[in-house]
Amino acid sequence: MNSGATLLLETVNFAADKHRNQRRKDPEGTPYINHPIGVARILSHEGGVTDIEVLQAALLHDTVEDTDTTPAELEAKFGPVVSRIVREVTDDKSLPKQERKHLQVEHAAHCSRQAKLVKLADKLYNLRDLNRCTPVGWTAERVQEYFLWACEVVKGLKGTNPALEEKLDELFRQRGVQL
Ligand code: NDP
Ligand code: ZN
Repeated sequence: MNSGATLLLETVNFAADKHRNQRRKDPEGTPYINHPIGVARILSHEGGVTDIEVLQAALLHDTVEDTDTTPAELEAKFGPVVSRIVREVTDDKSLPKQERKHLQVEHAAHCSRQAKLVKLADKLYNLRDLNRCTPVGWTAERVQEYFLWACEVVKGLKGTNPALEEKLDELFRQRGVQL
């Protein structure tokens, strides 16, 4: 087996272990790991991304935000580039939710190209998930607010990957949201 395949299996195994007790917010409570795997798959399958460190960061992108994983742990196991990309896409959970949402809009344009790719695929996955079914307890208005906010973030990510950006544009158009 080539080293890229070995590395990706090591990475997906680490992420699956970290997210083992978590579920998505959809009514079926899909295992959380489906999301990071899907984000990495969007990058490779739809975005044509072959940079292994970006694909690894996609698999790990919610481990620091949502589990006990630390950037130091990621650096020791997967190296400084992967750890740095994950840090770039991690919200500061000590801040109030509104502030975190606002900072994502402000920071988007200043991220590295690698982090922008992960953010584009993450938004594409989450918006498709919202179109597939409404999370438990969410109103239609809250879903629409999420599309509006995601659109503001994606504006700062433009010029990174035309294929992914076109698919996001189409989702925003369907919702009457202007990019
Ligand atoms: P949340 O941030 O609470 O939830 C969205 C996040 O949940 C996604 O970014 C995704 O993050 C994760 N997620 C897990 N499962 C799913 C799924 N099935 N589909 C999509 N995303 C999923 O949502 P909001 O953005 O709405 O959160 C906060 C904002 O909502 C606040 O700004 C607040 O003002 C507002 N709010 C509105 C309410 C209302 O009723 N109108 C009620 C409460 C808050 P990841 O990629 O990390 O998994
Ligand atoms: Zn995510």
